[in-house]
Amino acid sequence: MTIGVDDDESAFSHVDEGKALEKSWIRICSRLKGEVGEVEYRTWLTKIALGPVDGDEITLLLPTRFLRDWVRSQYGDRLSELWNQEVSAIRRVELQVARPGDPVAPPLALEEKTTDASTAPQADSEDAPRVAPEVKSDIAAVLDSRFTFDTFVVGKPNEFAYACARRVAEKPSSVGFNPLFLYGGVGLGKTHLMHAIGAELLQSGTVSVAYMSAEKFMYRFIAAIRSQSTMEFKEQLRSVDVLMIDDLQFLIGKDNTQEEFFHTFNALVDAGRQIIVSADKSPSDLSGLEDRLRTRLGCGMVADIHATTFELRISILESKAAASGVVVPSKVLEFLAHKITSNVRELEGALNRLIAHANLFGRPVTLEATQDVLHDILKAHDRRVTIEEIQKKVAEHWNIRLTDMSSARRARAVARPRQVAMFLAKQLTSRSLPEIGRKFGNRDHTTVMHAVSRVTELMERDTAFAEDVELLRRMLES
Ligand code: ADP
Ligand code: MG
Repeated sequence: MTIGVDDDESAFSHVDEGKALEKSWIRICSRLKGEVGEVEYRTWLTKIALGPVDGDEITLLLPTRFLRDWVRSQYGDRLSELWNQEVSAIRRVELQVARPGDPVAPPLALEEKTTDASTAPQADSEDAPRVAPEVKSDIAAVLDSRFTFDTFVVGKPNEFAYACARRVAEKPSSVGFNPLFLYGGVGLGKTHLMHAIGAELLQSGTVSVAYMSAEKFMYRFIAAIRSQSTMEFKEQLRSVDVLMIDDLQFLIGKDNTQEEFFHTFNALVDAGRQIIVSADKSPSDLSGLEDRLRTRLGCGMVADIHATTFELRISILESKAAASGVVVPSKVLEFLAHKITSNVRELEGALNRLIAHANLFGRPVTLEATQDVLHDILKAHDRRVTIEEIQKKVAEHWNIRLTDMSSARRARAVARPRQVAMFLAKQLTSRSLPEIGRKFGNRDHTTVMHAVSRVTELMERDTAFAEDVELLRRMLES
């Protein structure tokens, strides 16, 4: 009987004790809030739930390991002190990750839940219309309004990357497209495509988008370390629906930032968010990047943007000239497309200069004017390579004798490399067709012309061949 009464009493006292603990916890919370400030309090401490008391130890529960570690390192001691002041029997605080079924909502946070939407971005129900969670201004995508899908000219070298970008903009986080890894040389449209995706997504108004260069990512990360706000920075990043990081190659050799990016990356992908990354090389060629990061980067869709073809350069020039309203004769466009083969940025720069010139002096654009206005650019593009260098590199590449560049042998094993060398000579130097022909064993200019069109055609049909030629071109230009 006595035992039964005891039992009842202890049952009562459990309830009372629970209530008393809650009250204590509310007081502790309000003191903490006063000490650490509203923002920090809301970001970190409202996620704590009360767990059981065992002897002199109280357990506090947090929803994730990440939060537990952070709260432990930043507030662990203070929590112990405060608890001890409230309930002298409690001497220690144990922080644990909540398991399914554990209490999750802290008593004080309940009062604030209504104003607290920004800290619970993942809590949207399935079919309720979503409003994009607000992204903190320092990571929110700042997009160049000129870089849209509409202004992106599509051609063979970039159609695959373009299609992937479109797809991700339409349906972020779909299987097989996460992460989307865009790569290609400088000035070929990676940033343009990323901004286009961002613009499209923001227009839909239902997703939050963060965009930054890898350099800025690192800078922010370091700034956050300095101001002891790394957790806030991480939480910000981890709360977006779509994270875009441009020029990832910048993180080579920056091990700490890489590590941080890796964790953010995993957290986001695991949470079903979309990641879009650009770099100048494919994941497997980004040596200097941690293996596990490279592996994960290659897990989704990898799309490369190839060097421009003559046709694409012409289309881009046409489209940009039309947008400018200045009439640029097709002869001039062709001339530019032949001379400036390095990348779209330079091509665009040259055209812009022509257009500015035409507007300024009110004179029509002619071929002579073009050569005059772009004198320095054109010279810079000529200076780079000689036909001899081209012949040497190409011969080495295909393992044929240098003399075969000018020999009369017509076996395909030598004829094809020779054609490539002629093609590259046309692309990379300002030599005329007859001049080029002369350097290749006094061949006729029609032979050179034929070589150029043959190689162009083959490059379109055979990607492996196109990559070979492209590689040679890059080596010669660098
Ligand atoms: P990357 O990021 O690959 O270095 P960008 O995206 O910055 O290159 O492109 C360089 C410039 O060339 C930008 O002004 C961009 O608008 C333009 N550009 C590149 N590709 C295209 C394209 N296919 N159509 C129209 N403009 C392009
Ligand atoms: Mg870029």
